[in-house]
Amino acid sequence: MKRYECDVLVIGAGPGGSMAARFAARHGLRVFLIEKRPEIGVPVRCAEGISRAWMEEVEIPVEKHWIDTEIDGAKIYSPDEKSIVVLSAEQAGNEVGFVLNREYFDKYLASLAAEEGAEIWLKSPAIDIIKEDGQVKGAIVRKFGENVEIHAKIVIAADGFESQVARWAGLNTVLRERDVVSCVQYRMTNIDIEENFTHFYIGSCAPGGYLWIFPKGENEANVGIGVALNKLHEPGEVKRYLDEFIEKHSNLRKGSVLQIVTGAVSTCPVPKRIVDNGIMLVGDAARLIDPITGGGIANACISGKYAGEVSAKCIDNPTKECLEEYQELVKKKWGRKHLRNWFVKEKLASLSDGTLNKLMDVISQVKIGEISVRAILEAVQEKYPELVEEFEDLL
Ligand SMILES: Cc1cc2nc3c(=O)[nH]c(=O)nc-3n(C[C@H](O)[C@H](O)[C@H](O)COP(=O)(O)OP(=O)(O)OC[C@H]3O[C@@H](n4cnc5c(N)ncnc54)[C@H](O)[C@@H]3O)c2cc1C
Repeated sequence: MKRYECDVLVIGAGPGGSMAARFAARHGLRVFLIEKRPEIGVPVRCAEGISRAWMEEVEIPVEKHWIDTEIDGAKIYSPDEKSIVVLSAEQAGNEVGFVLNREYFDKYLASLAAEEGAEIWLKSPAIDIIKEDGQVKGAIVRKFGENVEIHAKIVIAADGFESQVARWAGLNTVLRERDVVSCVQYRMTNIDIEENFTHFYIGSCAPGGYLWIFPKGENEANVGIGVALNKLHEPGEVKRYLDEFIEKHSNLRKGSVLQIVTGAVSTCPVPKRIVDNGIMLVGDAARLIDPITGGGIANACISGKYAGEVSAKCIDNPTKECLEEYQELVKKKWGRKHLRNWFVKEKLASLSDGTLNKLMDVISQVKIGEISVRAILEAVQEKYPELVEEFEDLL
C-alpha cells in the first residue's frame, strides 16, 4: 500500500472538517482534508438556515455568493396556528441570519482551508483507522479506488451524523431513538411565503420535532420536517406528515417539488468523551447539534476551529490528556446549554396540542426582551394556572 505522512488528517470536508483543517494548517502543520464525495457541498442535506452572530468568532467573512436570502427573524406557530411568536431583529437584538446556498458555503469554507495550506483529496473515503498501542495514527483511505495509508499524528473525525470513524476509534457516540430526529425536506417552487422570515410549526404536525419553511428567494423555499424516531411507527411516516401539512396549506399546495432531501439530526446532550489518544471528533460526528433547533452548522464550524487550534498545541504530544483541552472547550461552550435544551426538547415533545396552544398564546404576549423561563411561567400562572404544575420541573 502507498504510504503518505502528514501532521493532521481531517476526515470529512463539511463545515466542521474544513474549519478544523483551516485552523490546523494556519499553525504551519501539514494537513490533509479528505472527502469521500467527488465534490464538496453536494448533495445538500440541510435546510440551510443560520444566524449571523457566531461568524466573526470563527473568522468567516460574509460573502454574498453563498447567501440565498437574508432573514430578519423567525416566526413560530402554535398547533392551531392562531398564536405566532415573532422573533424579529428589532425585538431580539442581533438574531438575524441567512438561508445559505449550502453548496457554495461548503466550497467556500474548503477554499479557506486550502488558502492556509491544507491539501484536499476528493473521492477518498476513509475505510478504517490505523491504531497502534491504543493510539490512533492515521487511516486507510480508498483514494480513487486504490487503498492507501495516511499516517498522521492527529486524526480529526468530521465525518458527520453517520460518523464511522468515532466507532472505529472506540468512542461511544451511539444515540438513543428519542435523540434522533428523522428529516424529509422538499425544495419547493411556485409557492407563496413571507420571504424575510423563517417559519417553524410545532405540535402533532411533527411529533418530537418541528416543521420548517426557509425561504430561498422569491416563491421558493426549503419546506421540511423532522420527527423524533421514537414517535415513528411505520416506513414513510415522516414524508406523510410533510405531505399532509402541505395539502392543508393552499400557499404550499399549489407549488411543485424540485428536490427531495432526507437525513437525520441528533438531539442529545454533549457525549462524555469526544477525544482519545490521537483523535478528536467535531461537528455532527461529536453530536454537537443543538437539541432544540436541530442546527449544527455553527457548532461544526466552532468545534472545528477549536480542534484545529488544539492540534497545533498537542502535535508533539497527541495523547488524550493533551487533547482533552479540546473536550473541555466544547463542554464549556455547549455542555450546560445542550443539557438544558435537551430537557426543554423532551418537555415540548411530551405536551399535547392543547397545552402547546395555551403556552404559545402566553409566550406570544410576553415582551420578547423579557422572555425567560420565569417570565413565561409567571404569565402561564396568570392566564392558565391549571398548567403551572406541568412546567414546574423546567425550572
Ligand atoms: C434535513 C436537515 C436539515 C438541516 N438544517 C439545518 C439548518 O437549517 N441549519 C443548521 O445549522 N443545521 C442544519 N442541519 C444540520 C447540519 O446540516 C449539520 O449540523 C452540519 O452539516 C454539520 O457539519 P459537519 O461538518 O459536522 O458534517 P457534514 O456537513 O455532514 O460533513 C461531513 C462530511 O464528511 C464526509 N464523509 C463522511 N464519511 C466519510 C469518510 N469515511 N471519509 C471521508 N469523508 C467522509 C461527508 O461526505 C461529508 O461531506 C440539518 C440537517 C439535516 C439532515
